[in-house]
Amino acid sequence: ESDLRLLDAEGNELEGDENGGALPVLAIVGRPNVGKSTLVNRVLGRREAVVEDVPGVTRDRVRYETEWAGRRFVVVDTGGWEHDAKGLAARVAEQAEMAIELADAVLFVVDGQVGATATDEAVVRLLRKTKKPVILAANKVDDTRGELEAASLWSLGLGQPYPVSALHGRGSGDLLDAVLAALPEVSAVGPESVGGLRRVALLGRPNVGKSSLLNALAGEDRVVVDSVAGTTRDPVDEIIDINGRQWRFVDTAGIRRRVHLTRGADFYASLRTHAALEKAEVAVILLDSSEPLSEQDQRIISMVVDSGRAMVVAYNKWDLMDEERRKFLEREFETDLVQIQWAPRINISASTAWHTNRLTPALDKALESWDTRVPTGKLNQLLAEIMQSHPHPLRGGKQPRILYGSQVSTRPPRFVLFTSGFFEAGYRRFIERRLRESFGFEGTPIEVSVRPRE
Ligand code: GDP
Ligand code: GDP
Repeated sequence: ESDLRLLDAEGNELEGDENGGALPVLAIVGRPNVGKSTLVNRVLGRREAVVEDVPGVTRDRVRYETEWAGRRFVVVDTGGWEHDAKGLAARVAEQAEMAIELADAVLFVVDGQVGATATDEAVVRLLRKTKKPVILAANKVDDTRGELEAASLWSLGLGQPYPVSALHGRGSGDLLDAVLAALPEVSAVGPESVGGLRRVALLGRPNVGKSSLLNALAGEDRVVVDSVAGTTRDPVDEIIDINGRQWRFVDTAGIRRRVHLTRGADFYASLRTHAALEKAEVAVILLDSSEPLSEQDQRIISMVVDSGRAMVVAYNKWDLMDEERRKFLEREFETDLVQIQWAPRINISASTAWHTNRLTPALDKALESWDTRVPTGKLNQLLAEIMQSHPHPLRGGKQPRILYGSQVSTRPPRFVLFTSGFFEAGYRRFIERRLRESFGFEGTPIEVSVRPRE
């Protein structure tokens, strides 16, 4: 179950935009009372869409679709921080981290009348580490006098502070221009924001059977979509109806057009793979079951793992299989592909369409895992059990413990563990295994990071 749905004013679920390209996402981060709500309501506007958050998500997160200067984008308000048992610092880290994960750019709001507080500075440290653009707004600058003080926020190292008055609208034009300049045309954080068709990248080295598989899946029922009009790269997507359901296969132009590049072919292939992954939610890695795993196969697999996308492995040309080869292949899968044992695997024959009907169930499984959100209570229950049965080895006479764990994002699931000391990599991997045993995650990478607290 996806946790967020985008609704229009009448409460109808919104379709993706005509291109199916996800709108870019801006996350708003800031302490309570700095004026985030005022900024969102008055300046960005929440006219077009209201989005509901289903129960089970621990904190309030609201998304709106909005528009400025003719460009549409999604605003995510990650909610204010409250002092509670967990403490403000933990909340701060979580919220900022989540914003960074969820968004293409972050709008960080500070109170221009108060200046930067210690809590603000803690957020700044996190924001400075991200590669995503950060726009710094100094709110409550209601008149020229406040502007001078706002300028002192240059010292935060986040670039130019934009003085703004959410209350009166002052400075909001410049701020919004800066926001638009920072946002990409199409979101790189997944289409969570707009729903739309599931996006699949079909990957594999030349001659593995990509084009044959595409033909087997599409038959005559294909719609070619020029996704990025006016660019020279001409990636073309195809919308393919499989058993009454549409899927978007991204960047199929490079698959259809049999280009034979001699020099630099590898380089271009890897660029194409990157571009396809950026747009996709799930990747199908096609392997040739009649040939040994190649270095290029391994490179493609690593790229998919690094991209954080869901993954399905398809062994093609299974019609060429014999007993001996098959034994070898099973061994190979367990040894050379040990890092992706979590990926669903199907054996197919693209040229005869044998078992190609197993592809969409595998894609669904992988995407479901990719979207999974583990309730905080359940997660911490498991963590407590792990600490009981398999505590971290002593370090210098001390017992590093997990204080609290939280899933900070989906797509893919990412977990942060707040701990009382440094955790060994081996123990982190152990926890990752236990998470998989308990919650499945078939077809998705997961990430576990540790924040030691003193
Ligand atoms: P949030 O909790 O961070 O979303 O903050 P709010 O939007 O609820 O605003 C907190 C308080 O600051 C409210 O009383 C607002 O009216 C006030 N406020 C918000 N923006 C401005 C502004 O630009 N100037 C002034 N003077 N007050 C503001
Ligand atoms: P691409 O370069 O990845 O798009 O690969 P193609 O789809 O063009 O296939 C390359 C070659 O492999 C062609 O000669 C296909 O007929 C053949 N091929 C593709 N799938 C299969 C299969 O399942 N079994 C067999 N025996 N040959 C296949």
